[in-house]
Amino acid sequence: MRIAIKDAWIITQNENRQILRGDILIEDGVIKEVGKVSSDADEEIYSHGDIVLPGLINTHTHVSMAILKGVADDVSFPDFLSKVFSIDAQRTPEDIYAGTQLGCLEMIRSGTTTFVDLYYAEDVIAKATEEMGLRAILCWAVLDEEFTTQKCRPLDNCRHFCESIDQEKSRILPGVGLQGVYVCSKETFLEAKEYADEKGLLLHFHLSETRKEVNDHRKKTGMRPSEYLDKIGFLGKNCLAAHACWLTLNEVRILAKSKTSVSTCPVSNMKLATGGVAPIPEMRKEGVNVSIGTDSSTTNNSLDMFGEMKTLSLLQKSSRWDPTVLSAQEILDFATIGGAFAIGLDRMIGSIEPSKRADIVILDGMAPNLSPIRRETLISNVVYSSSQANVKTVICDGQILMKDWEIKRIDEIAVLNRATEAARKLFSE
Ligand SMILES: [Zn+2]
Repeated sequence: MRIAIKDAWIITQNENRQILRGDILIEDGVIKEVGKVSSDADEEIYSHGDIVLPGLINTHTHVSMAILKGVADDVSFPDFLSKVFSIDAQRTPEDIYAGTQLGCLEMIRSGTTTFVDLYYAEDVIAKATEEMGLRAILCWAVLDEEFTTQKCRPLDNCRHFCESIDQEKSRILPGVGLQGVYVCSKETFLEAKEYADEKGLLLHFHLSETRKEVNDHRKKTGMRPSEYLDKIGFLGKNCLAAHACWLTLNEVRILAKSKTSVSTCPVSNMKLATGGVAPIPEMRKEGVNVSIGTDSSTTNNSLDMFGEMKTLSLLQKSSRWDPTVLSAQEILDFATIGGAFAIGLDRMIGSIEPSKRADIVILDGMAPNLSPIRRETLISNVVYSSSQANVKTVICDGQILMKDWEIKRIDEIAVLNRATEAARKLFSE
């Protein structure tokens, strides 16, 4: 199958951050040519100056919670956690499946082609995601047995899930998730790490999201969370830490030295008023790889990476009283190639270059909010002016998931109806 995208503005995100006006040829899921394509294709997408960019990468979410939108708004963080945990305990495979498909649908419509998930029941989430056509790293949540509602030992469940995935064939990759220092002992962290290292898997965990988490951990161990994880020998280049808000400069240096990547989640942090603003400029200065996550639909309440990019920029500038903090190009890097690097897939996705998998998003070049279209302001338009409504066509792994705003492959109405029904049932209306 050969697909040609013709006459587009192409934001390649390659090493030179080149922007081209031209064509892209995709063959059997792989980008073959970028620039001028002369050969025939089975399907041609005439872009007439639309904006093409790599599919966005959401490096922290809990996708199946998409059906829990709005159930825990405007409450304190402890109240939020107790509400969400009590709902989590009542969830069924059916509503996790329905929630995942709803979340995937929202991500397709907002230009995300890859996401990292942290939850239990990743087997159900894998099936639902595979059907929707997205790429994902699904990290089964591991925590101490005394804190979990999972049947059987969480790490055994995680192992079982990871071994059930055929990594060669699938867009779905397994990973090892850890809830955080507040519910995971040293033994749990190290056992999970040993398994992830042995199998070459991502280790994804919450880190220093709230001041309480940091203070409690200091009281318990005498160390801040990153210092502790470094001391026990947990951190490493397959680590992806979500939030990372309450960090000292020493902790930023620890993350840099250990090659731990960060997924910053500005909307979730602001909505829950967790207070600490992730020190992204210091992370960049010290060499920490940064990516962006939306977190879940209960804390955001959206999975829209365009909204997330703009909010991240505004939060960092506003909190520093400094408009020069983080350029639009750096923000787009976090959402594309930085995300790919964070999950160890930078040789496969994250930019539009020959030999990479075809994960591609096309934005409407005729939208007033993206006009005027000029090479010099394209990146700025994408980061500061675009919205998910501009996402016109989405290709993941060479498969067209949406074309001219029409969802392909799956029955969109059925996904929406199933999600509403599942939510009603869960809340017994
Ligand atoms: Zn989270």
